[in-house]
Amino acid sequence: MTMNASPMIVRVLRMLAGTQEIELGCEEVTALLDEYCEAQAGGEDLSRFAPVMNAHLRLCADCREEYEALLTLVTMDADPISS
Ligand SMILES: [Zn+2]
Repeated sequence: MTMNASPMIVRVLRMLAGTQEIELGCEEVTALLDEYCEAQAGGEDLSRFAPVMNAHLRLCADCREEYEALLTLVTMDADPISS
């Protein structure tokens, strides 16, 4: 199986797997947003992303904005929504 994750994402995921307590920085969250949104839009299991990812998105307005914009893009691409 080929993983096309960038080395940085792999590094972040490893870090997340190792510690659940660690607080994510905006940089880490932004690096994971692509994958996160695609997984969410595709109905994939989001549990491979650490809970701190969700926590950060709830607490950080900047990242949440970015996340919502990206999710809208990804969702429109996969499954048109009416609003
Ligand atoms: Zn942030």
